[in-house]
This record gives sequence, C-alpha cells and structure tokens, in this order.
Amino acid sequence: MLNLVRQAQAHLSNTAIISDGQSYTYTQLLDQSSQFAQRLLNGKADLAEVRVAFMVTPGFDYVRVQWGIWRAGGIAVPLCLTYPTASLDYVITDTAAEIIVASSRYASIVRPLAEAKNLQFIELEQDEEYLPGTLPDLEPERKAMILYTSGTTSLPKGVVSTHANLDAQITSLITAWEWQSTDHILCVLPLHHVHGIVNVIGCALWAGACCEFLPEFSAAGVFDAFQQGAINLFMAVPTIYFKLIAYWENLPDQEQKALTATMQTFRLMVSGSAALPVTVMQNWERVSGQVLLERYGMTEIGMAISNSYRGQRIPGHIGQPLIGVGVRLVDDNNQPVEDGQPGEIQVKGPTVFHQYWQRSQATADAFTDDGWFRTGDVAVVDEGSYKILGRSSIDIIKSGGYKLSALEIEEVLRTHPAVGDCGVIALPDDEWGETVAAVLVAAQPIDLAELNTWIRTQLPPYKVPRQYRIIAELPRNAMGKVTKNDLKQLF
Ligand code: ATP
Ligand code: MG
Repeated sequence: MLNLVRQAQAHLSNTAIISDGQSYTYTQLLDQSSQFAQRLLNGKADLAEVRVAFMVTPGFDYVRVQWGIWRAGGIAVPLCLTYPTASLDYVITDTAAEIIVASSRYASIVRPLAEAKNLQFIELEQDEEYLPGTLPDLEPERKAMILYTSGTTSLPKGVVSTHANLDAQITSLITAWEWQSTDHILCVLPLHHVHGIVNVIGCALWAGACCEFLPEFSAAGVFDAFQQGAINLFMAVPTIYFKLIAYWENLPDQEQKALTATMQTFRLMVSGSAALPVTVMQNWERVSGQVLLERYGMTEIGMAISNSYRGQRIPGHIGQPLIGVGVRLVDDNNQPVEDGQPGEIQVKGPTVFHQYWQRSQATADAFTDDGWFRTGDVAVVDEGSYKILGRSSIDIIKSGGYKLSALEIEEVLRTHPAVGDCGVIALPDDEWGETVAAVLVAAQPIDLAELNTWIRTQLPPYKVPRQYRIIAELPRNAMGKVTKNDLKQLF
C-alpha cells in the first residue's frame, strides 16, 4: 500500500481538502481516489509504467486524480494549466502518455491532442463508471511521477520520481518544519511542480492536515482566505510575496492592520523556487510580521537545504542541509572546497531521482562517478549557513579571472530606491571574457548616470555593470523565475 494512503487512514475524519467552498474528509479522498483508480484500471490488474497525463483544476479533483493514478499503479504526469498547446503537446509526446484526463474546462484544449494521437481521453465531470475490484500492490521503487523542470536554462527535462523518492522528500520536510495534523495550509501554486505537489499538498496530506485551494493566484483571493482565520501556513514563490506586498500597500489603513494581525498568528511562511530578494523578505516582515523561511530545492531532488524552523533565518541565505539529505560543495574537479569557498552543490540520498525520462545521456551527465547529483547551482557556506550564488551556467559571471555572482549584484542594485527589480547577466567580451550587464525595472524614474556613480560606491569596479537596459517587467516563466536567456536578447 502507498505510504500516503496508510498515513491518510490514520486521519479518516479530518478535513483533507477545501476547494470550491466544499470540505472533503480523508475518508472521501480515499474512497474517491480508489474509485478513480478503478475507472483508470477498467478491469486491468495494474497500470505499471503507464503514463497518465492530467490537466485538472487545483482542488479535490486534482488530488483524487493524482492519487487515483498512483493507486492504479501508474505514473502521474501533471500538465501545466497555462501552457500553450505546443508545450502540452511536447509533454504528452515526450512522455508518450497513454491516457489523458481533463477537467471539463480544459477538455477542449487537450481532447484534440488525445484524438490526434489516438489516446484514451477521460473528461472528469462526465458520468463516472468504474468496476469495483482490488488495487495493485505497490513497491516503493515504483515510478510515481514525471515532472518537467521549469525550463529556465534549456528545454524542460522530464524528471522521474519513485514513490520512495516522494516519501523521502515529504518526510524530511514534515520533520524540519514540524507539520501537525492541526495545520491548515493555503495552496495557490501551480501543480505541475515539486513546490506545490510535494511541499504543500504532499506534506499536508501526509500529516493529516487540511489543504485549502484557490483555483489560481490572486492577491485579493489570498487575503480573503487568510481573513477567514483558519489558515496557519503559507508557501509561495518570491514573485507572489512581491505581488501580495504591492496589493497590501494600496489597502486602506484599517484593512492593512486587520490583515497584519491575522498573518501574525501564522505558524510558518516559506519562500522558494527562486532567490528571495532581501528587500522582499524585509517588506513582507513589515506587512505580515512573519520572517520568511527560505529553502532551496529542485525538481530532481525535492528540497535539500532549508533555513531553520526554530532558529535564526538569515536574509539572503538558504540555511543548512535537511536531515537525511547528503549535501557537499565541490570545485570543478569534484573535490570538496574549503570553508568559505564557493562550490557546486551536489546532493545524495533517498530524495534524489534516478533518471531523466528517456534521456540517458543527460542522466549520466547529471551524476558524478561516485553517485552525487550535480545541481549546477553554486553556493558558499558563510557563518555556518549556505548562501546561493546562482546557477553556474547563467548566474556565475567569469570576468577577468573573477567569478562573480549575478545574484549578489542584483541584491545591491535593488537597494537603490529607483530600482524596483533587476536581472544581472553576463555578456561575452573579448577583453574580459565576460562583462556584467543589468536589466532594470524602475520603481521611480531611473537616472542612469546617477545610478552608475552610486553603484561605484557600493561595488568594486569589476562587479559594476557595463551596460544597462530599462524595461517594464522582467520576463518570467510559470514558476516566476526570470528567464535570463531572454534578457540577453536585449543587448
Ligand atoms: P531547468 O532545469 O529546466 O533549467 P529549473 O532549474 O528552473 O529549470 P526547477 O527544478 O523548477 O527547474 O528549479 C530548480 C532551480 O531553482 C534550482 O536549481 C535553483 O537554481 C533554483 N532555486 C530553487 N530554490 C532557490 C532558492 N531558494 N534560491 C535560489 N535559487 C533557487
Ligand atoms: Mg534545473
């Protein structure tokens, strides 16, 4: 039996899910996911290795479908709800999905893709028929899910996670963040990524807690849900906190105060998926009274490094390795670096995936000879706490023998009152190898000459951007990550 199912059986009468104004208990989740599993099985004994892609509204339906696929023994492939057809087609083709499930509101988008490929198509709200029967016995090493990476650096890769991987990813967070069955979390994240699937839904349902859904993010919707008074946990990406801050700033005094008072009672608020700007962390503390807990993770490994739940949370830092996750920092020859020196983060242990879907070369390249996963992210240990310097491929700028962190330069630029946001990139340069360039979003009119004089009082000359562009908004992908390859096109 799946461990998630076993856990749920210990909390049968608790509310598992709230969505569309309805509450569902763990009993209902178990019953209805079992029924959906039978509908998928349709008389077969097991869906081992069968990829089931699904495009379902966040909420009870999403979870019953996901659990239904798992309980039938299949591999869940969640589709992004905002992808253009070409990207949906990419995922369906790349996984060679055999079954496609959709909520009625998405049927018109994916049914044609299913028909073109002659795949089984299930529309959720249509008459559900299933044959009662037994569910297959599942071993932990069975493949559970294929999630696509965010595509920040290149074409998204399908990451295959086993049930054992997911269980390990969930339980490390249950311990670290002290999840309880009395917890009540609000989920506003897209559900085709680890952040929403593992950190929010997976942990909540493992703990016997309540997971409440908004079908999509809106600042008004989040604050309305908070005002109901039951929610005590929240997790989001930095851009969401940024938007919540902007919305709160424009509220009347009274409403601001009421919201702040509500948020002060929360047990925990977490940020991740991209670097949390120190300014956002500080502004959010002013708005909510909460010191955001920043953590670091990836599709391939779940979460690996986290600030502490009870201890100090250092702005700009990601904290320490989670219990049960092996982490090391190494140089270009895979040798551990000395304390205080930057190195690539490598990860080992039960949370780490085994393969990219049908990309054996990419899989082989991703691991060292002694089995460590190369994250491609560079960090340094500073005062006993990890600090991310960025991705080696796009954020580490190699200029005149120095290795500069784009993230550090961004942090400094953001402290200028006229700079609302920014992205720093490397440009090829004959003399220096690479030079620093910055794309700025203005909070107030930017005087580039003044900015340039000011930045020279803040940074050594080799870190100062040589070129600037000012744009209305930074390009971001579905997870709110700045797509820096697009920024390079501006120069
Ligand atoms: P792709 O692999 O397709 O280029 P991606 O790496 O953005 O896309 P994800 O697996 O969704 O895909 O994201 C993992 C990456 O997100 C990490 O490798 C890291 O670069 C970044 N990240 C996650 N958490 C943090 C954090 N707290 N601070 C800085 N970066 C973070
Ligand atoms: Mg990646």
